[in-house]
Amino acid sequence: MGVARTPLIAGNWKMNLDHLQAIAFVQKLAWSLRDAKHSSNEVEVAVFPPFTDLRSVQTLIAADKLELAHGAQDLSAHDSGAYTGEISGAFLSALSCRYVIIGHSERRQYHHEDDALVAKKTVAALRHGVTPVVCVGESAEDLAEHGPSAVPVAQLRVVLDELTTDAEFVVAYEPVWAIGSGQAATPEQAQQVCSALRATIAETLGDDTADRTRILYGGSVKSGNIAGFMNQSDVDGALVGGASLDVDEFSAIARFPKHVGTV
Ligand code: PEP
Repeated sequence: MGVARTPLIAGNWKMNLDHLQAIAFVQKLAWSLRDAKHSSNEVEVAVFPPFTDLRSVQTLIAADKLELAHGAQDLSAHDSGAYTGEISGAFLSALSCRYVIIGHSERRQYHHEDDALVAKKTVAALRHGVTPVVCVGESAEDLAEHGPSAVPVAQLRVVLDELTTDAEFVVAYEPVWAIGSGQAATPEQAQQVCSALRATIAETLGDDTADRTRILYGGSVKSGNIAGFMNQSDVDGALVGGASLDVDEFSAIARFPKHVGTV
């Protein structure tokens, strides 16, 4: 019998909200979830602010005992040294980051990060006790040429080859054509790829690891379409970009159990 996986709703702020705006946002989000009697045991909610906000967000969450997690949007594959502009996993760990996003398509596209670097960063995160959220996904051209699962599965395989069966990680399936486009994948498309990704984890690291690993869908998720994704057996949450910058909208996405079953 499979294990129950706690859904994760993750908000990737990208390069938005400075540290003062971050404090106001996190406070409002926490109030909104508290008013709705949201339980983090039922659905975990995490925010991924820019690096310069992390200390403020960490302090607020700890001081007010908010039921929110926080993570970073990237990290260095190195632990320390002459790497100007880079951020070590050790620094993220010192700021109580539970998660770090790795291999987002914007890093792959604009910063030329390849699968090998994504694998190195994943290992670096694990070395420092920060759970990697490894992003994979195909472009529109990949989809036309190779079909839906081939590219994300190949990307994930490179990372899995570096991991051991006890590794705690999250996978985010984000079709590049769906990110920021307003054109989300269908729930069935998301399920098809997430199921192929889980099968790849099972093949590489075994059934137990595959059973407990959360796989998120990302790409134009909104409160109006989250339920369709969460009704799929292999979708364990969402990585949300644009809609995570609107408190009410992000809070409504996190409260998806209220609308699951209604689609
Ligand atoms: C993202 O950038 O990870 C993302 C999913 O963006 P959006 O929700 O805006 O499509």
